Amino acid sequence: MSSTDENDAPGALSLSAQAMAARPMPYLDELNPAQREAVEALDGPVLMLAGAGTGKTKALTARIAHLLTTGRARPNEILAVTFTNKAAREMKNRVGALLGHTVEGIPWLGTFHAICVKLLRRHAELVGLKSNFSILDTDDQIRLLKQLIQAAGIDDKRWPARQLASIIDNWKNRAWTPETLPAGEASAFNGQGPELYAQYQARLKTLNAVDFGDLLLHVVTIFQQHDDVLAQYQRWFRYILVDEYQDTNVAQYLWLRLLAGGHKNICCVGDDDQSIYGWRGAEVGNILRFEKDFPGAKVVRLEQNYRSTPHILGAAAGVISGNEGRLGKTLWTEVDEGEKVRLIGHWDGEEEARWIGEEVESMQRGTRGMTPMSLDDMAILVRASHQMRAFEDRFLTIGLPYRVIGGPRFYERMEIRDAMAYFRVVVSGDDDLAFERIVNTPKRGVGDKALQNIQRAARDLGVPLLDATRALLGAGEIKGKAKGELEKLVAGFDRWSAAVHDLTVSHVELAETVLEESGYIRSYFKPQTEEEEERGDPLVPKDAEAPGRLENLKELVKALEGFENLQGFLEHVALIMDNESQETEEKVTIMTLHAAKGLEYPAVFLPGWEDGLFPSQRSMDESGLKGLEEERRLAYVGITRAEELCTISFAANRRVYGQWQSALPSRFIDELPQEHVEVLTPPGLHGGGYGAAAAGMGARMEDRAARADAYNSPGWKRMQARSSTRPISQPKESRNIVIDSEAVSAFTQGDRVFHQKFGYGTVMGIEGDKLDIEFDKAGGKKVVGRFVMPAANADDVPF
Ligand code: ATP
Ligand code: MG
Repeated sequence: MSSTDENDAPGALSLSAQAMAARPMPYLDELNPAQREAVEALDGPVLMLAGAGTGKTKALTARIAHLLTTGRARPNEILAVTFTNKAAREMKNRVGALLGHTVEGIPWLGTFHAICVKLLRRHAELVGLKSNFSILDTDDQIRLLKQLIQAAGIDDKRWPARQLASIIDNWKNRAWTPETLPAGEASAFNGQGPELYAQYQARLKTLNAVDFGDLLLHVVTIFQQHDDVLAQYQRWFRYILVDEYQDTNVAQYLWLRLLAGGHKNICCVGDDDQSIYGWRGAEVGNILRFEKDFPGAKVVRLEQNYRSTPHILGAAAGVISGNEGRLGKTLWTEVDEGEKVRLIGHWDGEEEARWIGEEVESMQRGTRGMTPMSLDDMAILVRASHQMRAFEDRFLTIGLPYRVIGGPRFYERMEIRDAMAYFRVVVSGDDDLAFERIVNTPKRGVGDKALQNIQRAARDLGVPLLDATRALLGAGEIKGKAKGELEKLVAGFDRWSAAVHDLTVSHVELAETVLEESGYIRSYFKPQTEEEEERGDPLVPKDAEAPGRLENLKELVKALEGFENLQGFLEHVALIMDNESQETEEKVTIMTLHAAKGLEYPAVFLPGWEDGLFPSQRSMDESGLKGLEEERRLAYVGITRAEELCTISFAANRRVYGQWQSALPSRFIDELPQEHVEVLTPPGLHGGGYGAAAAGMGARMEDRAARADAYNSPGWKRMQARSSTRPISQPKESRNIVIDSEAVSAFTQGDRVFHQKFGYGTVMGIEGDKLDIEFDKAGGKKVVGRFVMPAANADDVPF
């Protein structure tokens, strides 16, 4: 037990309860009667179940202050759980502000994970660990699982470690150990899941290690198996407080129930409408069951919203009312009407980023009759992290300071760095750092030793690593798998570098070629047998993360279009990476909707409200109506982050995977009550301004733009009906697309068609199941009919 831990134990603090009790309680004056009731009911279970911005977190914080001030509890007797470290820090600061002095000593205020690490270190031996156990990151975890899968003689190509990792994670979220795993799970992972889970847990023990899910699971196990330990903590944590209770998973729920089991002084706050972590095992049922779990619980409902204007609340209420099985709450506010929620459609994603950039600047300057607003008061909340790049690029171009919260910035992501490393070697063969990064990415059998040999040769010969590799290959000094692979790689770099100067090859095509020929893109798909390859079976992403990474890579290639050549692009990114400004400077925030939970900003931008992107097609495909409802709650969370101004936008076209995709406005837009929405006219709608790209797509653009204008028209409704029957799918890698709606027989000579790889063309003839097509750009080709569709449908291709 460390000395800090000793200090956390009750009785170790010199704080005098009487001295605290004598303090005034100004924080109570800031509360409304319902909040005050929840704060002052210190004994027994309390549930605050209320909508966004009603002051749940504020009341929870005041409750901590009250516990301390009244001397009911010492700081170390309070267990307060929040969802993110940011929220924990904020709550500590807020308690400090309420008490008028800093509160260093609330040792058990933190996230579930942070608190469980501390608990587990105290009792590690009870689950067969030492107190200095290490916590594995995802990479370590995957490597370990892979070893186990291979040792079991299972083909890890068909049964990838990542899939097993996610299954095990799910089990841990449900608090199932290998011993308590229900029989219903026996068939998981080809029937080997349970056995591999047991082996994995045993291996972790030998390594004196835990993964993230273990932190909770082990502590729950300890509590369940050691009554004395549990009783000790039940006594210690005399008061338990939980924020965002709607997002607890089963393991967290059990953990809380066990701890609160004695005194039942537990206060949970949450909002069923804001449950957005179902995909990670959160169970909204936990909050709805609270009164059953804790009979006699005091349930406090708050209805006054202190955050947002009536229009913002009205818009949010309109959207969330589309969900079934809600408790249903009415929110009201005393705040003035304010501005309506603004809705604007754009030509494409770049236009959207450009417009938002200008808006942010004008709000900062205080135009539009508003008082100038700090950049710190503005946030852009996106559904998918790949949306961030357009904003990052735009803001860099105009010199607008920004911060990205939750997740690395676009150019810091692994796959983007890998791809950039390839480009760097193509542009400059002596970029050794870049070469080192990719020489064995994807795996080419180049281990540490082989790399050291290359490095030594480079030093001896005084040449870059690429040339040293070439020399070693020439001398026959590289053997095994690495030999063939490196020969391919070196030949590849020769070809690609030559293409840099070939004017007939665009740098965008070159970039795509590099990523494909190097095998980098391919490494994100499951391997295929020769047979499967010959049959032209669609490629399947190798794991859950792969689609997102492929999406980012396509985004990267798309970004290249704005530059003259690869070199120019690389310089641009180098400058971006160097752009880290001082933290003290005010900045506009970019983050995902998920990361924005519990936060508030005077001005919020919600871009990308397009069907397929938001609601996310993937989420709907995976979880059906449940998925759609969770997306809707996310929309509710998004709108209710705004205090004064909420701007929703969508783009008629997005380049996804390098393909233009026309998008339909999100169905959530249709759910916004009209009386709370003001539809803005997209810039350039009257009088052009969309640039060259628009010229060829004028008719379609007018159609899309009209859609934004025709918000009130019956046409809008029709459009919406269409959008819900034929949603635009999440982008998929082009080889992966199978369009089976159109058979060869559906075409006749002279038809205009569209092929996802070769673009538009005209049918010249039909041979068996193949079409002979003269493509506008790619020339004459014979292609399989199912990959072709009538050109007229191409707008709605599920890319
Ligand atoms: P969310 O569901 O989004 O987490 P919440 O219910 O936790 O919201 P808070 O963040 O606690 O809401 O409060 C929202 C805003 O309202 C904060 O700025 C808070 O300071 C303010 N507020 C809360 N209660 C009151 C009150 N009684 N009087 C004045 N302002 C209040
Ligand atoms: Mg809150």
